Amino acid sequence: MAPFDLTRNELHVGGLPLSLLAERVGQTPFYAYDRALIAARVAAVRRVLPQGAQLHYAVKANPMPALVGFMRGLVDGMDVASAGELKLALDAGTDARCIGFAGPGKRDAELRQAVAAGVLLHAESARELQVLAAAAQALGVPARVALRINPDFELRGAGMHMGGGPKPFGIDAEQAPALLRALARDGLAFEGFHLYPGSQNLRAAVIAESLQRSLDLALRLAHDAPAPLRYLNLGGGWGIPYSAADKPLDLAPVADALAQVQTGLARAWPRAQLVLELGRYLVGEAGIYVARVIDRKVSRGQVFLVTDGGMHHHLAASGNFGQVIRRNYPVVIGNRLQSPQRETATVVGPLCTPLDVLADRLELAVAQPGDLVAVLQSGAYGATASPQAFLGHPPCTEVLV
Ligand SMILES: *Cc1c(COP(=O)(O)O)cnc(C)c1O
Repeated sequence: MAPFDLTRNELHVGGLPLSLLAERVGQTPFYAYDRALIAARVAAVRRVLPQGAQLHYAVKANPMPALVGFMRGLVDGMDVASAGELKLALDAGTDARCIGFAGPGKRDAELRQAVAAGVLLHAESARELQVLAAAAQALGVPARVALRINPDFELRGAGMHMGGGPKPFGIDAEQAPALLRALARDGLAFEGFHLYPGSQNLRAAVIAESLQRSLDLALRLAHDAPAPLRYLNLGGGWGIPYSAADKPLDLAPVADALAQVQTGLARAWPRAQLVLELGRYLVGEAGIYVARVIDRKVSRGQVFLVTDGGMHHHLAASGNFGQVIRRNYPVVIGNRLQSPQRETATVVGPLCTPLDVLADRLELAVAQPGDLVAVLQSGAYGATASPQAFLGHPPCTEVLV
């Protein structure tokens, strides 16, 4: 299922066999990200984007500085969700004009930093607009603003819902007209709208419908805007398969919907820029998490591989990062892919909690202490989305290969 070649006996990352890479890294556990796979994925997304649409990278998915720097050369802009991510994007050399800053509860200091940097603020509340206006006045530079809209429709099919119904994210569509009219008085530089329906969506028809309905809503709201629409960010949230039950996203219907949205947008607002901000879909399949087997135990007939890595580095693989039902990530013994000796084993970490499971009763090559367990599909929401301080084990490291 993963784009890594699983037909050789040893997993390769960036052309290097895993055991040699582990020696080069000098420690386990670690995350490894494959540049060539990331570049191939970005190219695949570009092929389905209509002419003129822009692709942004959502830094939250994987903020490793070297990876953000690599992405800068591949995408048209970045989306950040904190002053820390803003610094990462700017340090990577991203043009401030091509950075969007979203997220609820931006502190006054963060908003001021963002205005000083000249990035586009995705405003999530009336309070943020007030703080932005004050910051713009104090700094003597305009605050570039897009309203993040919480739509008046909800779509099924996303793993994590972030739009529709009561939400802490964005401004309810019903409240937007009044705020838009107030924007002119405040003298903020209005540029457009941002809508983000939710993460880990594998259903192309739902994504297509969301794109279309988001466009309709934005065109409706634009009537009350104080300036012509120049920017429409319709979010990310494209999913990747994690378990055998998941089907990869079918891009053809998404491409059709994007083409229609671009046409509809250009007809109404010829100078408006369509933007997609993808995180997981760009990097998620290009990364693995590697841990070494420390111990092999048999308890009442069940084989346990105890590794030096676990949920403190990879919360999502343990099933505790927003999943409703725990399903195994694809996990392999990375230095014995083709071994004919196979068994059902449970892979756990060193933490003293039953939550610390990387694979539950999965068919694997028979492994011994010293072998390398690789969790595939681990390029997004890994190291920084995990409680590394939990139980005081050493942090993991990350390499871009
Ligand atoms: C998390 C997030 C993204 C990225 O989501 P993916 O599911 O990784 O594509 C994009 N935009 C916003 C506003 C987000 O919060």
